[in-house]
Amino acid sequence: MERFSKGTVLLTDGNGDADHIFSVFNRRRGQIVDLMTQDFSELADRLWGGDSPIVVDSNCQCQLGAYHKLSLEQRIGLEDVPEAMYLGEYYKCINCSALGTLMDLDTGLDNFIIEYGSRLGQKFDIHRLARGIRFLKCYQYPKHILAQLLRNRNYINCEPGATELVGAEFYGADAFTTQVLVHIYVESILRKQLSEDRIPFLATAFVCGQDNYLVLRAPAIEKLTDISSPLFTIPIGTDCEDRRVLNFKVVYGLLYQLISFFWVLKDYQFSYGDPGWDKLSFNTRPIVLTMAGITCICPVSLIIAISANCSITTVTTDGKANRIFQYTDRDSKTLRRTPFRPKVESMTFNFTNCVTAEGACRINKAYVYQLPTDTSKSDMSALLRQLGAFMYPSSLGLYCFLCLLMTEPSFYYGVKTNSTLNALWQSFFLAYDLPIIESRLKLADGSNIIKLLKGIYLRCDAVKHGWDLIKIINERS
Ligand SMILES: [Zn+2]
Repeated sequence: MERFSKGTVLLTDGNGDADHIFSVFNRRRGQIVDLMTQDFSELADRLWGGDSPIVVDSNCQCQLGAYHKLSLEQRIGLEDVPEAMYLGEYYKCINCSALGTLMDLDTGLDNFIIEYGSRLGQKFDIHRLARGIRFLKCYQYPKHILAQLLRNRNYINCEPGATELVGAEFYGADAFTTQVLVHIYVESILRKQLSEDRIPFLATAFVCGQDNYLVLRAPAIEKLTDISSPLFTIPIGTDCEDRRVLNFKVVYGLLYQLISFFWVLKDYQFSYGDPGWDKLSFNTRPIVLTMAGITCICPVSLIIAISANCSITTVTTDGKANRIFQYTDRDSKTLRRTPFRPKVESMTFNFTNCVTAEGACRINKAYVYQLPTDTSKSDMSALLRQLGAFMYPSSLGLYCFLCLLMTEPSFYYGVKTNSTLNALWQSFFLAYDLPIIESRLKLADGSNIIKLLKGIYLRCDAVKHGWDLIKIINERS
């Protein structure tokens, strides 16, 4: 017989089916979103101070089967282990009980497949995160840094959304808390706007024993290089060399998904701190997406993971803004000692944009910024998120992921061999920066993608610009 923790929902053998468990998880996530959008300070009070929508049970002896796997001798060797545990009977928290009905906790696996209900066949991964102190606290220093930045007129021209943060509260949190809150909030925004999962589905987050856990839907295909079927590729070149690149529909569909992701989130100053291949996964199940009247039948779906280095502004129903970011003592000290100065140019540059009209190129102007080339300064991405990440948030995220995709040859040549897609790509850069970035891409392995962009002029309006071009291409094709 199993024991269950007290809580609002008891899971027993009778109702412990997958759909029921997921509806409980769903309700808990909903409670977090409600608090974020109604009373953020109440969330900060309750989250790790008791009565939390995230279940914390430090007394759990199961710990997803970890203790169960110990032999009797090992158990006896442990100090402070209750006698009942030697005998195989021990206390399980509500999440271990629930997950225990979906998977065999004795196998040592960190994933499971749903075997019944509406999620039949779906695979989930259990991520055990590093231990540490969990907190969600209001900090004043980002306000002072924001005030400094807002004195710079060029900065406001580049980042008009920053003025909306005047009066916002800045909540710093540990990595686990940041990841969970940002993920759940992003999901709530995307669900309103877009029909399909665009980020990995986070079933639940919880604390069992001393460990932090996330249960996330497993990606179908992890790497873009795995997509090589003739359905998705075309041959290039005239010789007999069998070289294939991603076809127009795949490349356009991926760009549509990438740009619309940042387009929806830009109103929340969403910032992506650490873009990389490990954050992207792909699925060859086609999806149909409609955004702002633009429908895309995307042959390959793109899923972008939310990490602890992402940050976002939540807006409560009475219009109060609250910024969530990952706080670390080291980074905040560095930032307070050497405030980061944005390099935004007041001059405007002419960008040639050949996507807009058949055969004819239109010139458009844009504010631009540059990431500092001085590597002696602290890691750029760390500084960005410590600022509460209101530095060119969406623009830089889009550039990073765009360039990351371009480090993959089948994507790169898929773009370069199609005049429309190539024009779209080129319009993100000044003519004289383009050969520099392209030569860097050819040598890049996809790691440290922010480094590739250093010293390159980047458009402040990249997300709006990209979305405008996506709409034009959609109308033409
Ligand atoms: Zn447990």
